[in-house]
Amino acid sequence: MSDLATHQATLDGYLTRFRDTGILNLIDGKDVAGVSTFDTCSPVDESLICPVAKGGSADIDAAAKAAKAAFPAWAAMTGAARKKVLHKIADMIVERAEEIALCECWDTGQAFRFMAKAALRGADNFRYFGDMCVSAQDGQSLPSAQHMNVTKRYPIGPVGVITPWNTPFMLSTWKIAPALAAGCTVVHKPAEFSPLTARILSEICRDAGLPDGVLNLVNGMGEDAGRALTEHPDIKAIAFVGESKTGSMIMKQGADTLKRVHFELGGKNPVVVFDDADLERALDAAIFMIYSLNGERCTSSSRLLVQDSIAEEFEAKLAQRAKNIVVGHPLDPATEVGPLIHKVHFDKVMEYVEIGKADGATLAAGGTRQGDKGYFVTPTLFTDATNDMRIAQEEVFGPFLTSIRFKDEAEALALANDVQYGLTGYVWTNDLTRAMRFSDGLEAGMIWVNSENVRHLPTPFGGTKNSGIGRDGGDWSFEFYMEQKLVSFALGNHKIQALGKG
Ligand code: NAD
Repeated sequence: MSDLATHQATLDGYLTRFRDTGILNLIDGKDVAGVSTFDTCSPVDESLICPVAKGGSADIDAAAKAAKAAFPAWAAMTGAARKKVLHKIADMIVERAEEIALCECWDTGQAFRFMAKAALRGADNFRYFGDMCVSAQDGQSLPSAQHMNVTKRYPIGPVGVITPWNTPFMLSTWKIAPALAAGCTVVHKPAEFSPLTARILSEICRDAGLPDGVLNLVNGMGEDAGRALTEHPDIKAIAFVGESKTGSMIMKQGADTLKRVHFELGGKNPVVVFDDADLERALDAAIFMIYSLNGERCTSSSRLLVQDSIAEEFEAKLAQRAKNIVVGHPLDPATEVGPLIHKVHFDKVMEYVEIGKADGATLAAGGTRQGDKGYFVTPTLFTDATNDMRIAQEEVFGPFLTSIRFKDEAEALALANDVQYGLTGYVWTNDLTRAMRFSDGLEAGMIWVNSENVRHLPTPFGGTKNSGIGRDGGDWSFEFYMEQKLVSFALGNHKIQALGKG
């Protein structure tokens, strides 16, 4: 059997139980059907995978109450005990990594070559934040003349985690692991387009010994289950990953209950290539950062800014490489780009191809549908674009690159910053002084110099402008999931103003 056939057969085995029972919610440690169901379909061949429990406000209420009831005991557990559970979850993710990867490929269209690693990164998230459990409450001592001021951190309470469909397993662990490490309990509302691995994660957590109610899973639509979660009075904070306009809605929905929010939103990230860069490496990285993961990644380098003197050759090589990329079945290990998540998203990406043409940019590669089943788009490159075009300003979120030329550093910086987003930037130059100066001026939360996006978990992850609010990673995650408390001890008999003594 080919690797594809082997993967398909193994996947069929894993899917059997979902086909039998559908995907149920998991509330307070129990499987719960929703008020009704919705279907999850594979973007590979548009076939039904299985029905999914459609949670509504009553399910969210039950989950929030379970999370509230479980909170005191989970928060009071020692960091060492919480660490043990999180490490066990990490071990069990590794044991089920193949199942997670195959299900994710089938549910989302992501290529196996990337999903195998994404599953393991989920385990890393649990292991890393598991190690941080023991220091989660650490604070500072800030003595003043008459007081010893000490700070200590406390988990904020039950939190809502709302995740998107792109690399959903990895992103869910990225939010849930630090929340649990901090001592919070969680209600998770995954994206309606990719429910499989969220269910697997909730089972792993239960089987690893996470007490009932500490992690609750409610599937459903954004406008009802998602909305109810953001409005629930027992939910103290919302960690959200998704589109900028959804973030804005969540902010409004959470206003009445004064929700703390943490947003990881959209991007239109520049990769800036100067003529003194190592152009072969820059080419590899630019291609990787836009076409891997089907271009459905928030940190994708979707705007190429390339210096005039090297632009023609660089763009020609790019177009050739884009045409060589293997688009195909996500379970085939040879596949580099799989199908887009769903029909509406596919239509949106194809519409941007028409917009790019109509606005006068040159379609240098791709821009076509591949096959007549599934949502496959060939890797697309537009050249001769200007920064005011919609394909330069709006997040397409597919294998879709827009190339814009610049003459000097000042122009490159102006172009790079002239968008509503500010998530990441990639700078390619061998002039370190310029790299530093450029990074100083670039409006982005994260910048890589002479590199693709390589995550190091202790570093801050997040965006500026319309790309987000707050940072994740290392201790930054705890800033969101925890409250600071100050206790101030008087050191002696300092003078207290004695009012009312005449
Ligand atoms: P989306 O905003 O449509 O949906 C995300 C989640 O929000 C889903 O679970 C959805 O059901 C829920 N939702 C929708 N409306 C809601 C509402 N009114 N109240 C509460 N919840 C609601 O995003 P998507 O299309 O699933 O994901 C793609 C987007 O995510 C892109 O814009 C991408 O850039 C962004 N993203 C950002 C990061 C980052 O780190 N900055 C990471 C991954 C994805």
